[in-house]
Amino acid sequence: MPLKSRIRTIPDYPKPGIQFRDITTLLQDAFGFRKLVDDLVQPFAGKRIDAVAGIEARGFIIGGAVAYQLSTGFIPVRKKGKLPWETIGRDYELEYGTDRVEIHRDAVAAGQRVLLVDDLIATGGTALATLDLLREAGAEIVGCSFVVDLPDLGGRARLEAEGVSVLTLVEFEGE
Ligand code: AMP
Repeated sequence: MPLKSRIRTIPDYPKPGIQFRDITTLLQDAFGFRKLVDDLVQPFAGKRIDAVAGIEARGFIIGGAVAYQLSTGFIPVRKKGKLPWETIGRDYELEYGTDRVEIHRDAVAAGQRVLLVDDLIATGGTALATLDLLREAGAEIVGCSFVVDLPDLGGRARLEAEGVSVLTLVEFEGE
C-alpha cells in the first residue's frame, strides 16, 4: 500500500497510548504527495465545487493542493483567536476541555458548495464542529475527505450520520 507505508507511526505521542500517525513522511515524498492529492481530487473531478475548506494546520497543506487542482477557492478553518477579522465559530469537546474552530464571517456565501478536507479523522469532533459551522454559514457540504481514518474511534460513522459522504484513503486500527 504505497500511501500507508509512507506514513510514520510514533508510539505514545503526544501522550501514552496514542499512536500518532505522522503524515510529514508522506508529504516529503514527491510520489506520495502527488498521489494523495490525486486520490482526494479524483472522485470530485467534474463536480461543481466552489471552495475547499481545510482545517488548521495539516488540512491547509492538503486542502490547498486539492483546491488548486479542483480550481476552487480555499477557506482556512482556524483554531481559536487566529483570524484577523470578524469570526463565527463552534466550540467542541476534547478529552480534557474544549477547543474552537473559526472562520471569517464572510468566508462562505449562501449556497456555496464546499468540500471539507483534513489530514486525519479520529473521533470526528473537529470535523463535526467544522461541518456545523460551515452549514451555519450557508454552505452546502459536498463531502468530507481525509487521508487517514481511525475507524475504531467512530468519527467517520458520526459524519455519515450527519448525511455527508466521507472519503478516506488509508485506515489504521486503534487510537
Ligand atoms: P478528532 O477531532 O478526534 O477527529 O481528531 C482529529 C484531529 O486531531 C486531526 O486534525 C488530526 O490531525 C489530530 N489527530 C487525532 N488523533 C491523531 C492521531 N492518532 N495521529 C495524528 N493526528 C491525530
